[in-house]
Amino acid sequence: MFVVEKIDLPNLGVRGLEADLSEQESAIQDSAHRFAQEVMRPIAEKLDRMAPEEAVAENSPIWDYLAQIRESGLLDLEMLGSMSNAEKSRIIPILFEELAWGDAGLTLLAMVTSFPAFTAYASGDAELIERFGDKLGCWLGTQPDRGSDICDFDATEIHPGTRQNRGNLHARIDGDEVVINGQSSAWVSGAPIAECSLAYLSCDYGDGLIREDGSHNIIAILIPFDLEGVTKGKPLDKLGQRSLPQGELFFDEVRVPMKYVVAQEEAAKASFFGALTFANMEMAVTFTGVARAAYEHALAYTHERKQGGVPIIEHQSVRLRLFGMWQKLEACRALAHRVFNYNYSGNGPHVVSSMTSKTFVTQNAFEITSEALQLFGGNGLTKEYPIEKLLRDARASLIEDGENNVLGLKAMSMLSAVYKRDNGL
Ligand SMILES: Cc1cc2nc3c(=O)[nH]c(=O)nc-3n(C[C@H](O)[C@H](O)[C@H](O)COP(=O)(O)OP(=O)(O)OC[C@H]3O[C@@H](n4cnc5c(N)ncnc54)[C@H](O)[C@@H]3O)c2cc1C
Repeated sequence: MFVVEKIDLPNLGVRGLEADLSEQESAIQDSAHRFAQEVMRPIAEKLDRMAPEEAVAENSPIWDYLAQIRESGLLDLEMLGSMSNAEKSRIIPILFEELAWGDAGLTLLAMVTSFPAFTAYASGDAELIERFGDKLGCWLGTQPDRGSDICDFDATEIHPGTRQNRGNLHARIDGDEVVINGQSSAWVSGAPIAECSLAYLSCDYGDGLIREDGSHNIIAILIPFDLEGVTKGKPLDKLGQRSLPQGELFFDEVRVPMKYVVAQEEAAKASFFGALTFANMEMAVTFTGVARAAYEHALAYTHERKQGGVPIIEHQSVRLRLFGMWQKLEACRALAHRVFNYNYSGNGPHVVSSMTSKTFVTQNAFEITSEALQLFGGNGLTKEYPIEKLLRDARASLIEDGENNVLGLKAMSMLSAVYKRDNGL
């Protein structure tokens, strides 16, 4: 039982029910919040209204953002890499929630463009660091005919007796080179501005592309786009996250040195698993930030907008609706943090953990942004107010980084496998 001397209002942090933060955590939160407010929101608002080609053109504000986030040092790979696991599990969620409160698309852009550089640094190989360490990158996984199938890395979700599609992008080994032909999906985030990619490709190692179990042989490889045979398609025009440009990549007999191979066969699947585990985990904190932005806008608006003789917050039903949003937001953050703790603990990392928070948070972020829009009434539908953008951003997250139903199926198949193993079934 708590002994309380006086009934007072709760002490709330920037992120609601915040327990004490260390000095370092508070400083990072403050800097990220300021950056999100002063740099990200204004730039994201402009990018959201631009045509996809304009948004990636030379004079686009996207370059200003990329320069400023680099200068800020907030996402400095060396700084993040030097943290202990305990620090990472507390600081990365704070950092990414603040940035995403500013804009989800720009937050994800900063993350995804650093994937190849991160991979090069993680290898410790001087040549890879020299070639990819300061390059803007992207993450190539999906193909026109291989969307959800790439998330189904061990083919547990295929119809009995069938195989996954052959796909449209294939690699083969030729001596000391990997030869790549075909095209990616139009969904590769950052592709229109990227100089290289961390790619997960179907690969023929000499025994075909597709295995007995219907899954694909995979290779993980860093591909510089200055190699002969690499071209790009038009930037994609889409609903939501318009500050995160997407586009196709085409490969015509592109010869990549074996040296740039990150992992082969089983190790490549494990590498994909690791990337998806990180990305899904990160999506959960990102969309907690989006949900928080929507809740805050709705809280402010309901204190201003008068209908029924009073500011609408004075109507009981409105207060209850806001409380539902608040509860969901706190639940999103709690689960997103629990997954960070698990993944950076001795038991983790595991994709089941990240799929749990990614699917829960993005679904709830969609519901929170939708209820926020409802509370804005007709104003919520207009581009004069920030809510319709948040709703669009959250809507895209239900498909991004793995469609939520497919991620749920994969997670439950693995949880069932644990039960079967533990019960000798
Ligand atoms: C904003 C955004 C950013 C993205 N960024 C990237 C990126 O950086 N790099 C990249 O490679 N890709 C990226 N993607 C692509 C993304 O990973 C795919 O869109 C996603 O995996 C779903 O694939 P799909 O669109 O082909 O849908 P499909 O796989 O065609 O799915 C269509 C429907 O079929 C259902 N379905 C599919 N398979 C099964 C199954 N086995 N069992 C039951 N139901 C099934 C799904 O639930 C879904 O509702 C991005 C997508 C978005 C929206």
